[in-house]
Amino acid sequence: MSSDPTEVQERQTQTQVGDSLAFERWRMSLSNFTGLGLTPEQKIQREEEKERSVLERDWNKCEKWKRTLMTNSPMITFMLQHLKNAGCEFDSSSIQCHPCPETRSGGFSTEHGILLCQNRFFNKKHLEDTLSHELIHAFDHCRFKVDWFNLRHHACSEIRAANLSGDCRWTREVKRGFYSFNKQHQACVKRRAILSVIANPSCESPEMAERAVNEVWKSCFKDTRPFDEIY
Ligand SMILES: [Zn+2]
Repeated sequence: MSSDPTEVQERQTQTQVGDSLAFERWRMSLSNFTGLGLTPEQKIQREEEKERSVLERDWNKCEKWKRTLMTNSPMITFMLQHLKNAGCEFDSSSIQCHPCPETRSGGFSTEHGILLCQNRFFNKKHLEDTLSHELIHAFDHCRFKVDWFNLRHHACSEIRAANLSGDCRWTREVKRGFYSFNKQHQACVKRRAILSVIANPSCESPEMAERAVNEVWKSCFKDTRPFDEIY
């Protein structure tokens, strides 16, 4: 064993440096947690890091749920199969998770496919309902020549999407045997369809949206394709 005084000295200094580094790291992580004792630049950096980690967490969760549902959910796999049969296959890359503003939870675009709003889902069921809703739009777009700027066309697809997805807990009502008689369900479908049509750029007023929904209501509410085979 060496007892060279310089070596001992050196070792002591190293330990002190190590200790103070550990202390500094501890202080910084505590500051990052509390936000106290940070310089303005560090505060900005802390906010950015927080934002990044929220984005990453939301995206991971959204993607994980999406993938699980695409293989395990009877509703989603049924719709995906029918889209494929109709010649419009939707793979995982055409259903994308992104952050969105507070006003929406999903969307369908003829160019970009399906959007899932990663920051808007309360739980997996909510994502499943949203994805079912958008898949009905995708199916309509694939099967029928939908002009999305035509309010009657849009209204019809929104009625079907709200009716056939879990938006108004359709599947639960079917299980309960209330499907055709459930006035509450119809009111829910109508309300949601009107709200969606109001967001159409061609729609000038809520009354206009309501009129479009009422005009196509009868034929579109009873149009349950591609579910006819089961019900
Ligand atoms: Zn919709």
